[in-house]
Amino acid sequence: MDLAFTPEEQAFREEIRAWVRTHLPQDIAHKVHNALRLTKDDMQRWAKILGAKGWLGYGWPREFGGPGWNAVQKHLFEEECALAGAPRIVPFGPVMVAPVIMAFGSKEQQQRFLPGIASGEVWWSQGYSEPGSGSDLASLKTRAERVGDKYIVNGQKTWTTLGQYGDWMFNLVRTSTEGKPQTGISFLLLDMKSPGVTVRPIKLLDGECEVNEVFFDNVEVPADQLIGEENKGWTYAKHLLSHERTNIADVNRAKRELERLKRIAKAEGVWDDMRFRDQIALLEVDIVALEMLVLRVLSMEKSGKNPLDIAGLLKIRGSEIQQRYAELMMLAAGPFALPFIEEAMEAGWQGDFPGGVAANAPLASTYFNLRKTTIYGGSNEVQRNIVAQTVLG
Ligand SMILES: Cc1cc2nc3c(=O)[nH]c(=O)nc-3n(C[C@H](O)[C@H](O)[C@H](O)COP(=O)(O)OP(=O)(O)OC[C@H]3O[C@@H](n4cnc5c(N)ncnc54)[C@H](O)[C@@H]3O)c2cc1C
Repeated sequence: MDLAFTPEEQAFREEIRAWVRTHLPQDIAHKVHNALRLTKDDMQRWAKILGAKGWLGYGWPREFGGPGWNAVQKHLFEEECALAGAPRIVPFGPVMVAPVIMAFGSKEQQQRFLPGIASGEVWWSQGYSEPGSGSDLASLKTRAERVGDKYIVNGQKTWTTLGQYGDWMFNLVRTSTEGKPQTGISFLLLDMKSPGVTVRPIKLLDGECEVNEVFFDNVEVPADQLIGEENKGWTYAKHLLSHERTNIADVNRAKRELERLKRIAKAEGVWDDMRFRDQIALLEVDIVALEMLVLRVLSMEKSGKNPLDIAGLLKIRGSEIQQRYAELMMLAAGPFALPFIEEAMEAGWQGDFPGGVAANAPLASTYFNLRKTTIYGGSNEVQRNIVAQTVLG
């Protein structure tokens, strides 16, 4: 197995690096490097810049307007974006629902929905989880009843990330109660501006409203917004989740945040403490090991093998690492990381931070926020069950 990059791959990396450094707005990069709050405009501005270049759908094949990059090129693109301080691409459109529309949607659906996703104009949300149906997703109850050429949707979704900005939502809905729960689920695209849709933000520990509850009250959805066949939605949902989990490993962000941790440790004086440096070294070893795992997956993909059965492992290790660097940043800043000042998340905040370094004020918020990573995209406990079944046998 060859884990080194070829000269062509290195040249590709240089090309991406130069382009990203020229086109990424500096005010956005500043916010990302300092973990400050990103607005909808920040996220969408970068998405549209990528969209205009044809790179928002960086994983897409050429036939659908993507760059047709192979797995290594996609990895290099992600790495260069992360290291430059680009915001993570909001995955619901380009990374999650687009591959489903390409694989299972009709020609009309592809022509109707893919251009708005590729350009970054249309914001998508994910409607899978419900109260009581998270890990046990197949038990979901939101009902879609076929009446003529429409579905009438009633029920509730929850934990809908950034759903307050959503134009469209892809949903798993129950269309049958016959047989196994998985066989009565369908995959429906829904316009969030439709009458009967209510979005209610959930305020989290870090003060952000990153997630929402979404209620459907007799929402009419044209039947031509059903993907594939009725009651086959579970198959399409699984296709999508495999994309979500690989994306969640986010080793490139971990590399960027490791450098931030070192900066904080030096500024706070704990860099001179051998015990603290040991902790950073252990984290760095784990990040390098995760990167090797990602490169092994890429190498397998290059040689035509299917590596997706270790997607769960990537998710488990990636999310644990994210939580660890946030913890170490808090420890490095010591008591000055403790006060939680919500306004400090805004760029240009000049408020009072008695005795501490103002740049450390957002640390508590990052720490709280990253508690989510071992839960979303399928909790780590459930991922371990899957790894036990698929990898260990
Ligand atoms: C920040 C955030 C953003 C999210 N964004 C979205 C989104 O945009 N769209 C969306 O649809 N969903 C989203 N989710 C929902 C997410 O997918 C679910 O929270 C997750 O699948 C867990 O489901 P649950 O919260 O219902 O917990 P539960 O399933 O009730 O689990 C509770 C606990 O029990 C454990 N557990 C459950 N079953 C097992 C088992 N079989 N073996 C061992 N342990 C088990 C779990 O690991 C967990 O610790 C988001 C969640 C979070 C926290």
